[in-house]
Amino acid sequence: MVRPILLWFTRDLRLADHPALHAAAREDRPIVALFVLDDVSAGSWMRGAASRWFLAGALDALGSEIAARGGRLLLRRGVADVVVADVAHAVGAEAVHWTRGYDLASRAVETRLAERLAELGIRARSFPGSLIHEPREVTQRGGEPYRVYTPFSRAWLERDAPDRPLPVPERLAFLDPTIPSETIESLALRPTKPDWAAGMRAVWEPSERGAEALLDRFLNGPIWSYARARDFPGRTGVSRLSPHLAIGTISPRRTYWAARARAEVEGRGFQAAWPFLRQLVWREFAWSNLFHFPDLPDEPLRAEFARFPWVEDAVALRAWQKGRTGYPIVDAGMRELWATGWMHNRVRMIVGSFLTKDLRIPWQEGERWFWDTLVDADLANNAMGWQWVAGCGIDAAPYFRIFNPVLQAKKFDPDGAYVRRWVPELANLPNEWIHEPWAAPPLLLEEAGVRLGATYPRPIVDHDRARKAALAAFEAIRGG
Ligand SMILES: Cc1cc2nc3c(=O)[nH]c(=O)nc-3n(C[C@H](O)[C@H](O)[C@H](O)COP(=O)(O)OP(=O)(O)OC[C@H]3O[C@@H](n4cnc5c(N)ncnc54)[C@H](O)[C@@H]3O)c2cc1C
Repeated sequence: MVRPILLWFTRDLRLADHPALHAAAREDRPIVALFVLDDVSAGSWMRGAASRWFLAGALDALGSEIAARGGRLLLRRGVADVVVADVAHAVGAEAVHWTRGYDLASRAVETRLAERLAELGIRARSFPGSLIHEPREVTQRGGEPYRVYTPFSRAWLERDAPDRPLPVPERLAFLDPTIPSETIESLALRPTKPDWAAGMRAVWEPSERGAEALLDRFLNGPIWSYARARDFPGRTGVSRLSPHLAIGTISPRRTYWAARARAEVEGRGFQAAWPFLRQLVWREFAWSNLFHFPDLPDEPLRAEFARFPWVEDAVALRAWQKGRTGYPIVDAGMRELWATGWMHNRVRMIVGSFLTKDLRIPWQEGERWFWDTLVDADLANNAMGWQWVAGCGIDAAPYFRIFNPVLQAKKFDPDGAYVRRWVPELANLPNEWIHEPWAAPPLLLEEAGVRLGATYPRPIVDHDRARKAALAAFEAIRGG
């Protein structure tokens, strides 16, 4: 009997542009497909609830694709290196292939797995696939990591263009081994609160097909006005590909080339796609940061922030989480997050600034809440995003740049469309007052059916006062 190759799926839940799968297909051996839910190795960064929901859908879809090719996606739970080695042994695998990870926990698992497989006489082969250029490839001359985005992106661009994405291999001989497997239900990935899942289901299709549909919609229009429209949460100016990139239902290389090739075919040139492609490079920068600074999710990269006088305020934190701060743009964002598992980037920055500066609550609290509620929860992007808004990251907005939530809202949601959608109790307010209902004339509030403190909260902090207090706190750590 020809010994099979075990394909261990990780953050690459797709068949297209999958180097590890492609290499397996080329070897002309049957393939056993496996996914392991490892809640142990990830430690305190065990996958959160919303991204588990997305994962369940993506596993379902991938399982169907594999079943259509005569195989079965084995599902297991446990410490990944132990489980993968056990399954490899049980199916008599000749080799195990997988897509490399770049966070500390994944790297530790992969090292242990390689050792276990060596003991069993099974070949271990890891491949790139979740980034376009791997972190080790984009460093300064002496191998030092870049700490600032612009030189990183310059070095990234100076590299040879990435290879074209790989198609789904034509011949894929998946096996259906007769060994036990969990089911998606027994992995209990979907939330027990059915309403929550319904909200996410209405918005997302967690599969390769769902990713391709979003990419297609984006390339058929929004990408060309991305630079102008991307900051306006009330418009469809962004791709919404983030959960797919996070879990690998689409590869970044496929996304990159689809945008670049479309720009070239339409005679627009590479530059036309660059504002969007630049965001993919931010993603690579985040992963490079996490690779070189593995504490990124837990510790501020600017050491002085370890002394910052953060405030512990469970009531204010809860109001923020629930979208009841009294600042409409903040509340709209937090409610969009809860309802759909996603939030627009501009609003992520606004709610992040509000939490860490107006409320002075530690950025890690926001990071944790996002981790649990985002379908696109991504260890590197989330940690870099939070360190950026809190001003404690390496190439972050300085702490003293404090967003004014009202001015931000007036600028980026000028017609109030976004706030009206997510904070319907304010929908009847005219544009002039929708972003600061507390300043509206009482009669007008009454006509719009708004009773502050009853139908909609009064602001939980005064922004001007909070801003001064935040700046004073920052001065204190700066002064040493
Ligand atoms: C506080 C905070 C937390 C964040 N947490 C996450 C997270 O957990 N997961 C996540 O994927 N993104 C995170 N981001 C980055 C960004 O907000 C999202 O990637 C983006 O909003 C996703 O929407 P999109 O797919 O339409 O993005 P587009 O604008 O269409 O961009 C395309 C892709 O580029 C990448 N990208 C875009 N912006 C950034 C960025 N600033 N940093 C890194 N990569 C980026 C994403 O993969 C995105 O899907 C966070 C940002 C902030 C400020």
